[in-house]
Amino acid sequence: MKRILVVGAGLAGATVATILADKGWKIHIIDKRTHIAGNAYDYVNELGERIHKYGPHILHGSGESRSVEFLSKYTLWTPYKHHVKALLPNNSYTPLPICAKTIEDTFGIVLENEKDAKRMLEEMRVNVKIETTDDLFRATVGDKMADIFYRPYTKKMWGSYAAKIKPSVGARLPVRTNREECYFDDDFQALPTMGYSTMISNMINHENIETSLGCEYKHTMSEDYYHTFTSQPVDEFFGGVFGRLPYRSILFEERKSKVCQPSSVVNFTIQPDYTRCTQWDLFPNSPARAEDSKKKLHTKTYERPVDICDNPGEYYYPVKTEDSEDMHRRYKVISNARKDITFIGRTGLYTYFDMLPCVEKHITLANKFISLHG
Ligand SMILES: Cc1cc2nc3c(=O)[nH]c(=O)nc-3n(C[C@H](O)[C@H](O)[C@H](O)COP(=O)(O)OP(=O)(O)OC[C@H]3O[C@@H](n4cnc5c(N)ncnc54)[C@H](O)[C@@H]3O)c2cc1C
Repeated sequence: MKRILVVGAGLAGATVATILADKGWKIHIIDKRTHIAGNAYDYVNELGERIHKYGPHILHGSGESRSVEFLSKYTLWTPYKHHVKALLPNNSYTPLPICAKTIEDTFGIVLENEKDAKRMLEEMRVNVKIETTDDLFRATVGDKMADIFYRPYTKKMWGSYAAKIKPSVGARLPVRTNREECYFDDDFQALPTMGYSTMISNMINHENIETSLGCEYKHTMSEDYYHTFTSQPVDEFFGGVFGRLPYRSILFEERKSKVCQPSSVVNFTIQPDYTRCTQWDLFPNSPARAEDSKKKLHTKTYERPVDICDNPGEYYYPVKTEDSEDMHRRYKVISNARKDITFIGRTGLYTYFDMLPCVEKHITLANKFISLHG
């Protein structure tokens, strides 16, 4: 039997590889990086803290989903309810997403009940037709809250004003009128107990899978395989014939600090360069924990979003505009015509996925391949 080539040892590649290997296919995974797990890669540093090299990754979704059932074969879970605080201009902290407490902290008021919070939001909201992310901000929380919590963050994150961004970008943000301060609403929120790298290593540690790291894909490689699944950016694969698809990237700056922050992730409001800062020993699956009184230093990572040109090769967030979607449609036409290759993952499909939807999508892709090829 000829082997299958999987380009990319991230969650997408590992999911496809594991399912096909279980069906008896011989798989060769390659990754240009020197580690597995793609952007979910984590490791334990010299202070015993578990660091997520490419930014904090929290699993969240439905506990009943196929993806949770699938991943649970490869890891134990440490339950973790994620909390995020925003640093206000007066140096105090308030919870995000916006909830009753955020409104109280912002305006220095006390809300008696949920009805009060609803009324306050109602008064702040602007009745506007939603054509941009900025319209969405104004319609959901009004100008004052948008100026503090959304507009500066969006400008840093996307390098563009909210008024120039499609509404779908801002639509991910919930606004609450109750006192729930948890970042996600999902019933399943967890971290793999031994980290993402161990979870993915357990997936691909299979008698039918060989993995080569530090190995960049070349077009001639596919000739030696029955089929190729590739996480390579689709525009890069085709040599940018229709132009380069835009991405935002992030520069990660690590610092050691003696001071603990109030939540594992703090979002900045008026700070002009950084979007957020993560303190790693506040995650419950970090071997060294912040609450250990002997621990004097805490590793923190600051995130500075940049254009992909300023961090070449590090493709993080597809920038969805009419132009980029139009360009992507053209790439889709030529990629669909390649029956020997399936594009997978965030950059192969030019779609931002959270981890559980990513696993869900690639279980489906792998099963489709099996239904056609056995
Ligand atoms: C900053 C950030 C924070 C995130 N936080 C969360 C979170 O909290 N919760 C959540 O659920 N999701 C989160 N995600 C999303 C999560 O990272 C993705 O769902 C996941 O990484 C998708 O996996 P993937 O395999 O598609 O891509 P990747 O993890 O990027 O893996 C692709 C792999 O392909 C390799 N590759 C590419 N081209 C080549 C080539 N030519 N030759 C060889 N190898 C190649 C790359 O080196 C890479 O290792 C976050 C993403 C980012 C960017």
